[in-house]
Parts: sequence; structure tokens; C-alpha cells
Amino acid sequence: MALRHGKAASQRGKYDPVTERFSPRSRKVRILATLGPASDSPEMIARLFRAGADAFRVNMSHGEHARHAQVIASIRGLEKQFGRPTTILVDLQGPKLRVGKFAAGSVTIEEGARFVLDRDDAPGDASRVQLPHREIFDALEPETRLLLDDGKLVLRVLAVAPDRIETVVEVGGTLSDRKGLNVPDVVLPVAALTDKDRKDLAFALDQGVDWIAMSFVQRPEDVAEGRRLVGGKAALLAKIEKPAAIRRLEEIIELSDGVMVARGDLGVELPPQNVPPIQKQIVATARRLGRPVVVATQMLESMITSPSPTRAEVSDVATAVYDGADAIMLSAETAAGAWPVEAVRMMDDIATAVESDTGYGARLHFTETLPDATTADALSAAAAGIIQTISADAIICFTASGSTARRISRERPSVPLLVLTPKLKTARRAGLLWGAHAVSTRDIGSFEEMIAKGKRMALRHGIGQAGSKLIMMAGVPFGTPGSTNVLHVATLTGDELKGFHE
Ligand code: PGA
Ligand code: MN
Repeated sequence: MALRHGKAASQRGKYDPVTERFSPRSRKVRILATLGPASDSPEMIARLFRAGADAFRVNMSHGEHARHAQVIASIRGLEKQFGRPTTILVDLQGPKLRVGKFAAGSVTIEEGARFVLDRDDAPGDASRVQLPHREIFDALEPETRLLLDDGKLVLRVLAVAPDRIETVVEVGGTLSDRKGLNVPDVVLPVAALTDKDRKDLAFALDQGVDWIAMSFVQRPEDVAEGRRLVGGKAALLAKIEKPAAIRRLEEIIELSDGVMVARGDLGVELPPQNVPPIQKQIVATARRLGRPVVVATQMLESMITSPSPTRAEVSDVATAVYDGADAIMLSAETAAGAWPVEAVRMMDDIATAVESDTGYGARLHFTETLPDATTADALSAAAAGIIQTISADAIICFTASGSTARRISRERPSVPLLVLTPKLKTARRAGLLWGAHAVSTRDIGSFEEMIAKGKRMALRHGIGQAGSKLIMMAGVPFGTPGSTNVLHVATLTGDELKGFHE
């Protein structure tokens, strides 16, 4: 079934400098921009937002709480200025392993040499260094590969004792203080969240952020533990960056509110050529299970130092959009690069070009998303069909929890999706959902109110004209979450347009 794509997608979200407001962006895929020293001032955050960033990532691997609190306040400040909800994702560092320090700051180790990791906190040299993670010592066996500094150096374990790991250097190089260690072949007996993660999580929840990302998830139990600690105060996103997580992908996605294809660490733990098929697998599985999926890392890497990307990077961003990812992410490009605004604008341009391609709809629906046997899913799937049959112009969804918005978004409808919710929290979380334009607005109490408000909000947000058909979805009784059971088609008449277009 070829859905209509192109008309709506080719109109770019317009910023009106007089009202300082956006008309809803017609771009469907969301852009998630990481903030850092190059971009975390209030002025830069506003510039990234104007350029097309829909959501912001605050990375707990760097910086202090006081600074993060300022950044979060600046992001929320956009809501008054632009009249749109903002979306904040706090990324927890997770159990990332690191070696200790060296007496000289760094050492060079040669291929074929012996190298020891131990529990002694004395500064290291070319023969040994501390590994300050005691859990690891019991989990390793001879022959296990240890990758250092994003895989640049490779060690192979020869023998393990409770306080000492003897290795032989397979790929040598320079190793400096606190470099990362990856152990791809073993499910490590480490806690899903470190003490630092727990403190960062408490801080983030206290700040009322919308999404929490967990790094280095290995097992479904890790996500369950995260859920327990988050306690529903934010949505939970599992970063898929370990081979172990891919082996249990479905279970992990089921327990999460969203996932990230974290290609940086995936490409360290696995050969890089394995990453594209895995990206396709994760995106398809997440879409099938109705969870938003973010494709991340090195998307426009060369723009860290250059104002224009390579053709290969442009193609990579386009591929993620064609695959139907909900969001595409910028990391160092916006956090620490020289061209953060240009990187966002470039992503916006690429996504807009893909979504304007007449072949986009067919490619997008290559992934089948069969509805679950629920009323909400059945109605969402029906709505996607009705768009075709009657050439509807928009879907308007009234939702408290946001779950109906997620289900409709999963159908990847070709027309604008307006999400109306009485909960600001729900509107903010929707910022990672493909195609969703969320508005926080007072709840409706009756069927008549639903129709009137749906029409009014569509017009206010630049959707529809005389004769436009609007599909409305809601739950009766009104105000009861989880009860989506109404699908109504309303038609805009000339009367309703009075006062909007003069
Ligand atoms: P990171 O996660 O940037 O926090 O490492 C993303 C990735 O590994 O791709
Ligand atoms: Mn990572």
C-alpha cells in the first residue's frame, strides 16, 4: 500500500520572526542534538532549535550538575519564547570500564609484548596498569579479547588471578591515562548503573527531564532495574551498544520506552561492517514493537571541523531517514564542533530532501508493523488506511499518557500528526516520536468539545483549509487514560476558517 508522501513533507517548518513561533515542522524524523561546550549557552541552544533541533541530549559523561542545571533551564526557556514543548534526554554514562593512570601520562606498548592489568593503584608503566573494576577479574578467561581506547589497542588474556590479568599485546600503540576498556565477548557481571549513574539519575529526575538514556545495557534485567529507579518519572531509552544486548534485543526493547542504535561503541565491540545490518535490525524491531528509535554517532562527523559534510555522511543520514528511524542524533558535531548550527541545518536539509522523495513512502513501509490485538492499535492502523481512502489532511490525537500518539506514529502516517494532551510531560516526551507535533492544552470533556477543539487547534497550527478532512482519535470516557476507542472524521467548513486567514 503506497501512502501519500511528499506534499506535506516538502513544506519546511517555518519560523515566523514576528510572532517568534514555528508553524509545525513538516519534517517527520526528529533531530536530537547533543549539547556541550560548543553549544550550551542560551543563545546557541536557541539557534540550534531554530535550525531544526527537536530534542536535546545532556551527556552525563562530561560536566557538573550545576552546569547541567543551567543548560536544562535554558532549554526549558525556549518554551516561552517559541510556544512549543521542549524535549530533554539525559544520557547516563553507564558502566564504562577504564584503566588507571600512568606515571608518565602515557606509554607505548608493542605488539607481542606482555602487559598486566592489576588492582594496584600505583601509577602504571609499559608493563602494567591498574584496572579499577574488581568485578571484571572473575569474569575473564584465557583467550578473551580486551579492547583499549575505542579498539585502537587489542590485548589477549593469557592468565587470570583474583588480582592480576596477564595479557599479550595483539595490536600495540600508545595508551594514556583513564582510557576506555571494552570486553565485547563476555557478559560482564557489572551493575547496570554505577554509583555515579545513580547520583546523576536522581539529579535528572529532580530536574524533571523527559527521557533517561542507559548506556552499555547488557541484559533485560538492566533495563528492569533502570525502570525501577526511574519510577515512571521519565521515559527510559536503552542504548544498544553491546553484542550481548543484540542477542536479547526484543526483550530489551519490550522493557524500554525507546532505543538508540549507539554506533560508536557498537563499532568498537563489533567489526564496523556488522553495524549497518544491526542498525537495520534494531530499527525494524523497534518499529515493529512500537518504540521510538534513535540512530546515533558519527552521522556528520567531519562537520566537527568542516562546514560541509562528506557525501558518505549525507548518504548515511539519508539511509537512517529512509529506514524510518524516529530520530537522528548529533554528538560531538553539536557538542564540541566548530559548526554546530550548520550541522543541524544540514541534517534538516537531508531529512527534508529524503521525505520529499516520491519513493520515500514505499521504502518507509518496507518495515511491516502489524497492529497488536488492542482497540488503540486497531484504530491507529485503521486511521492510516482512512487517510488514503478519503484523502484526509491530518490526524489529531487526544491523549493523556501519550501511548495513542506512539501507536499512530508507528503507522508512519503521511499527513501531519497533531498530539493534543493535557499533560505537559506527555507533550515533552513526544519530541522523540516520528512525525508528532505535540501541544499541551486543556483537556476536553465531551464529544462536541473534541471536534471543536480539534478543528481550532489544527487551524492554529497551520493545518488544513476549507474542505479539509481531519481524523480525530480520543478515548471515551474523556479524561480516562488508556481508553482510546473513538475515531471520528471532521470536515473544516468556511465558517471555522473565519478569523484565521485574514
Ligand atoms: P556515547 O553513546 O556517545 O555516549 O558513547 C553513543 C555511541 O556509543 O554511539
Ligand atoms: Mn556509547
